[in-house]
Amino acid sequence: MMEQYLNIKNKYKDALLFYRMGDFYELFFEDAIIASEALDIALTKRGKSNGKDIPMCGVPFHSADNYLPKLIKKGFNVAVCEQTETPEEAKLNSKKGPLKREVVRIISPGTLTEDSLLQRKNNNYLGSISILNGSISVAWVDVSTGYFKSRLIGKDNNSNQKQFLTNFMLKKDFSEILISEDMDIDYIIDEWHPIIKKQSPSLYHYQSCFDQICSYYSVVSLEGIGTFTKGEIIAAGVLLSYLKLTQCGKIPFLSMIKSENINDYLEIDYFTQKSLEILQNLSGNYEGSLISCIDETKTASGARLLKQRIIEPFYDINLIQDRYDIINWILGNNVHINNYQESLKSIPDLERSLSRISLLRGSPRDLLLISKGLLSIKEIANNLILFQQKNLKPKLLNSILDTLKIDYTLFLNIQKALKSEVPLIVKEGGFVKDGFNVELDHLRNLRNNELNQIMKLQKKYSELTKINSLKIKHNRMLGYHVEVRAIHDQSLRNIDLFIHRQTTAQASRFTTNELVDIETQILNSYEKAIKIELEIFNDFAKKILQKGKEILNIVHSISELDISFMVANQSLSRNYICPNISNDKILEITGGRHPVVEHQMRLSEVSFISNDCKLNNEDLISLITGPNMAGKSTYLRQNALISIMAQAGLFVPAEKAKIGLFDKIFSRVGASDDLAKGQSTFMIEMIETSLILNTSTEKSLVILDEIGRGTSTFDGLAIAWSVLEYLHEKIKPITLFATHYHELTALKENLKNLSCHKMSVKEWNNSIIFMHKILDGEADKSYGIHVAKLAGIPSVVTDNATKILYDLQNKSNQFKQNSIKKVTTVNSKEVNDFLDEFDKINVDDISPRESLDFLYKLKSKRQTNGKNKFKK
Ligand code: ATP
Repeated sequence: MMEQYLNIKNKYKDALLFYRMGDFYELFFEDAIIASEALDIALTKRGKSNGKDIPMCGVPFHSADNYLPKLIKKGFNVAVCEQTETPEEAKLNSKKGPLKREVVRIISPGTLTEDSLLQRKNNNYLGSISILNGSISVAWVDVSTGYFKSRLIGKDNNSNQKQFLTNFMLKKDFSEILISEDMDIDYIIDEWHPIIKKQSPSLYHYQSCFDQICSYYSVVSLEGIGTFTKGEIIAAGVLLSYLKLTQCGKIPFLSMIKSENINDYLEIDYFTQKSLEILQNLSGNYEGSLISCIDETKTASGARLLKQRIIEPFYDINLIQDRYDIINWILGNNVHINNYQESLKSIPDLERSLSRISLLRGSPRDLLLISKGLLSIKEIANNLILFQQKNLKPKLLNSILDTLKIDYTLFLNIQKALKSEVPLIVKEGGFVKDGFNVELDHLRNLRNNELNQIMKLQKKYSELTKINSLKIKHNRMLGYHVEVRAIHDQSLRNIDLFIHRQTTAQASRFTTNELVDIETQILNSYEKAIKIELEIFNDFAKKILQKGKEILNIVHSISELDISFMVANQSLSRNYICPNISNDKILEITGGRHPVVEHQMRLSEVSFISNDCKLNNEDLISLITGPNMAGKSTYLRQNALISIMAQAGLFVPAEKAKIGLFDKIFSRVGASDDLAKGQSTFMIEMIETSLILNTSTEKSLVILDEIGRGTSTFDGLAIAWSVLEYLHEKIKPITLFATHYHELTALKENLKNLSCHKMSVKEWNNSIIFMHKILDGEADKSYGIHVAKLAGIPSVVTDNATKILYDLQNKSNQFKQNSIKKVTTVNSKEVNDFLDEFDKINVDDISPRESLDFLYKLKSKRQTNGKNKFKK
């Protein structure tokens, strides 16, 4: 056995080998040490190797699903080695030694298909990076849903390539990344090390990757599929090879690979995604994120599509408008949103069932889920088709409904064939309904009859032996046998009919030729029945796979409908409206609200204060000042989030919204990021700002919140000042800029497209009230100490701070006044005239009387012009 184990382990050095022995998966040697530590299970030993104990640990087969996620999450690959031969087969081949075992699958973080190991609303991506002639391409796949895409990330050694790659990979949140062993390590950030799987450089060969893709899709060229760069083909080919390896030759059902162009989407880089709390709040939790607030989808695939939409919204008016048209049609025709949403709720995760079936990992339950789900979809489709004439429906809705018009007979047949409660394992049978297959019914009847025969035999033997307690029982070792209490042992031995098999302290067991015959018949009919059930299962599975492409299209259509109904519902329940989207340079929002803050406040007594935003070609930059806690960040972010939602095809929290298509959105809030370890907060802030200045365009939306706060006041002010000028003069994106540097408001004098706004506050009874309302103009005070008081800082400290602030302000005022005086003195014509006169005097020649007159003149000038004038 150990020899067999070592042979197999040798082939799967990079994975922990789960070696099936009876009801356990056992691990040996180094694997056992690693797994026992990672799983916190007992490390034992079994036998010796070179005189040393062999470490061993094991997990029960039935509860392997509880242990696997822990190992997978820690980045390990697990090779599952099963017994692939029955004892009967081994006997038939007169084979000695352990039964044949083979690795049937390698489980890795990026190739999971089990619901128990996956998150319902998240895609699980396996990514592959290729760098060819200085251009970076990526391909990625979600094995559990069949989603397969590729993209060119950066061309010709573009200096921002590394940042583009990091951004993209972080945004997609890959579970596993494939790279070539010889890839430049500079491109890899620390966070990826645990999930990187290095591949042999020989796999990165263009032609073999091309062939790999063509053979998977059974095509001779990729022209009909799309336009791909060589790098994308290499990345995708490597992915397919890895899938083949980990799935032991089987490749899951994948949708047609699609090459994405970065320009097809509104680009939201990873820092912006984090800063706008799109998928997680700033503390890394789901709660408080945009997705947690708006996701009211009813299907798992709808939730996954919504997530993709808000991290990569459209950059195409038509695609956005198509989505709005469906939502408006639903609202305009009083479609019963709740009824449809109820039906959507009953649709299971079809993509994941399909993927399991394609990997021969499907269960009767998957068949049942697919058929039930598709029949519910058929009903939804019928209702919508009948609702109104085709020509009165929006274009996208018609094409969605067209994809739903397929032949559903197969799914009806599956429902007719399968029991309503089915086992999870195919091998054990018992899932086909009585009456579906004549032969199966016949075998089942035979079996039932045979069981009756056993009951009859029991009666016969009991009467023959006069032992009432005689029973015919079954166990794994003896099969069917006659069992009597040990005291009756001799009575049965005296009768030739009974053949002795076993005696224990309590019982004696016998068999008879009749019993053996019946047992053989039972076994035969059982095996035949299982075989028929397996054939039925495989036939349905095959037919489902033949419809795989259609099913994936249907799932996509249903996800679109799910989102449309969700938005229509939010339009009614949350007062979200349909934005007006155009190609103009415009961000005009009336009565805008922050979706998350508003949603969080829905249970509180105070309500969210809506605010307007009016930016366009003339009013390009809005400079917002206001005290801490006044609502600047909320206001900034709500405008960005509304733009993102609009481009994602969703309705938005506002009374009115006119939004010009943005190509990129940037948002920076201060700086603290755990990614760029080893760099100061200020450095990170500057790196992020540099990315904005280097990559934003006049079609972008830039949100900057307190840029420059990470350094000394003057440095920070100078940087913020200069960044604003650069944005205004050179790039010209629509910009919202919040700052505590009130000095910046002076910029409005020189920058004609910049306007100043402030968050209003009211002072009342020595305290301040935040009005959360944006007004034109500049804020005069910061109220930092008021906020400190609100935060519970001891009054001794805040009182002292008030005094210090007073002193500092006085000094600063004096300083300012002195500066003004200095300027006035130096520039004053009178002073210059006076000084000219003064210079003409020769002190040695002047009489005492003349000097006295000069002094009087000076004195009188000072009195007429005000004392300050000549004071230095
Ligand atoms: P700081 O300068 O200290 O970062 P800020 O001006 O950016 O503060 P925010 O963080 O935006 O202020 O807002 C502070 C709090 O005020 C928010 O957490 C929110 O609860 C509340 N708030 C902000 N805007 C509104 C609004 N429009 N309506 C109601 N409450 C709001």
